[in-house]
Parts: sequence; structure tokens; C-alpha cells
Amino acid sequence: MSGAAKAMSDFIPVNEPVIGEREKALVMECLNTGWISSEGPFISQFEEAFSRRVGRKHGVACANGTAALDLAVAALGLGPGDEVILPTFTIISCAAAIVRAGATPVVVDADPNTWNMVPEQVAAAISPRTAAIMVVHIYGLPVDMDPILELAARQGLAVIEDAAELIGGTYKDKPCGSFGTISTFSFYPNKHITTGEGGMIATNDASLSERCKSLRNLCFQPKQRFLHHELGWNYRMTNLQAALGLGQLERLDHTVMKKREIGLLYKHLFAANQHIHSQVDSTDFALNIYWVFGLLLKQENLFACDLIDELAKAGIGTRPFFYPLHLQPVFRAKKFFQSAHCPVAERLSRQGFYIPSGLALTADKQKIVAAKVASITQHFAESTT
Ligand SMILES: *Cc1c(COP(=O)(O)O)cnc(C)c1O
Repeated sequence: MSGAAKAMSDFIPVNEPVIGEREKALVMECLNTGWISSEGPFISQFEEAFSRRVGRKHGVACANGTAALDLAVAALGLGPGDEVILPTFTIISCAAAIVRAGATPVVVDADPNTWNMVPEQVAAAISPRTAAIMVVHIYGLPVDMDPILELAARQGLAVIEDAAELIGGTYKDKPCGSFGTISTFSFYPNKHITTGEGGMIATNDASLSERCKSLRNLCFQPKQRFLHHELGWNYRMTNLQAALGLGQLERLDHTVMKKREIGLLYKHLFAANQHIHSQVDSTDFALNIYWVFGLLLKQENLFACDLIDELAKAGIGTRPFFYPLHLQPVFRAKKFFQSAHCPVAERLSRQGFYIPSGLALTADKQKIVAAKVASITQHFAESTT
């Protein structure tokens, strides 16, 4: 093996999923029967099993988590003149769905400890134009839902719950994804259930579910298929993906347990490190299910980007934290977020990154990762003081 090939084989990627025998058998069934498109029988089976698991009546499978957000925002009829409150510390997809619908995103900052949106700040951001709150659970810990649900009920607001990072997680013993008007999920390979690419919408409202199904399928009509009164998308999931998802769903409890094991070992390995703060393991209402394992540099003059480069050279894959929505050039150019003040999210994006935590990761590799992170951080801390 050449040096370069050896270096590649030693590389520890930020995520490596595990696909079990059950998933392989279900996918083979699709291939053997020829049911590969969205017409196949696993779609409705996956929708039913998944929505039951997250405590909802209806599930609508779709192409990915970003598509799920587009569908949820469109199905709720949000549009020009409507404001939607969401965290600034999240993925672009959340604000993109709002902006594409012609509505106005309004951001709130993150909690320095849990990195989630804070209910008091949501309350303070309400205006006469507020139409909905988009709750996004971050990195394995849920948002404190009760105050937000009360606020929404009092003000008559819709709640979209983006539970992409909390599949299998709970808030006060109730499943994440069961809260609010409509919830969305992603099945990207780093999520707790993967279908390669994929997403889901869940709701108890039958008419919202039907709206999502129509919008997912180009708004074809049952009677006159090619006559359109509305524009939808082709956001359908394939039967192959649903087969994979069904198999993964059967192992969700095990996945959550395994991800917690990974998280707890890292917590232990970083516990005594004076330069690094890791995301909290639990709050009053939930256990962290460690969608990723996030680290925050404590020293103000240490930057995640510097560590990320050095760790890559040392054969360790990482990702920076989210870049706050209120600083995104694409939204600044549209004059959104002009008065946003979110110092916590800005600090998270400068000083936070996450390290390998995929299901295929072994304890030995975690120890290698933790040792390299510690030594490189120590080196930077010494050279900057
Ligand atoms: C992953 C993720 C998405 C987007 O999902 P895709 O399937 O990658 O489009 C949306 N919201 C959150 C919070 C996510 O973590």
C-alpha cells in the first residue's frame, strides 16, 4: 500500500453509517420484484410505521429533509406578509423554505449551553405579522417545547417542528416530531435513520397531510391527472429508499443507544480538558441522543477553522458548526435580518466543530480522535497565549 493510500485508509470520517442485513434484504426485495419507484408498497408501510413511532397519525415520505420543510411551509399556506420565527443557528434549508414561499424569516439566538433556541427570545420576537414558529432541535438535544407550544396556542400560531436531528429522541418522555402542527425529518446518512437521501413530514391533521401529498406529487389531480390548478414539486421518495428506511426504523432504539454510548465515551474523554466544552449530556427534560458530537473551544482566540485544518492533516474528519442564518450573504442581500443580534450563534460558528460519531465508529478510534483533538488544541492554546 502506498503512503497516500495508507493515509486514506486510516482516515476517520466524520460519519460512517451502518447498513444492516435486514435493510439489504428489503432493498433486494424491491430489486427482485421491480418495485423501485414511489409507486411501490414500502412507501406507505414506511409512512405508517414511522408516523406511529413518532406519535403522529399521518406520515408523508419525501425526497429529503429540505423538501420536507418546503412542503410543510407550503401546506400551511405561509407566504407574503407572514413572519416565521426560527433559530439563526440551523441549516440553510429552514430559512430557504420560508424565503422561497415569499414569507419573512425572523431569527432568534441560541442558548450558550444547549445551543438550542430559547422560548423567551421567541416570545420577544412575536409581532402582529407572526404566523408561525419553526422549532429546530439542534445536535441531539430538544428545544424546550412546552413554553413555545403555550405561546403558539395563545397567539394562534402554527408550529413547524424540524426534528431531523432528533429522530428517536424525546422531550419529557414524548417523541420528538410529535409536537406542534406539523413536523419534518431528514434521512441523510448522518441522521439516526438513513435512506441515503430522504425525508418525512408528520402531522395529526388529515387535510395538511393530503396537501403535502399533493404538493409532493406535482399537484396531479385524481380525476384529470394532467390538469393543474397549483404548482407542486416532484419530491417523491422511491420504494428503494423506503425499504432501507423500514429496516433502519426497526433498529432505531439500538441506534439511539449506540449514539449515546459514543457520546458518553467522548464526554468522559474530554471531561478534564480545560480548553474544550462539549455539548451537555442532558437537560431537565431530555437526554442528548448525540446526532453529532459537538465541541466548543473555550478560549476566545482559538478558532474552529484552524483546528479543522490540522485535524484533517492528522486524518480526522470534522465539520464546522452551522454558519448563522442572519450572517448568510444570500439573506443579507435580500435585506433580511438587518437588526438581528445573535452573539451566541456567532461564537458557536467561530469556535464550534464536530468530530467523528457515525455508527461504525469504534471505541479505539474515538480514543485516537480525542487524543489528537486534545494535543492539537493544546498546541494552539500554547502558541496563541
Ligand atoms: C439534515 C437537516 C435538514 C436537511 O435535510 P436534508 O435531507 O439534508 O435535505 C434540515 N433540518 C435539519 C435540522 C437538519 O439537520
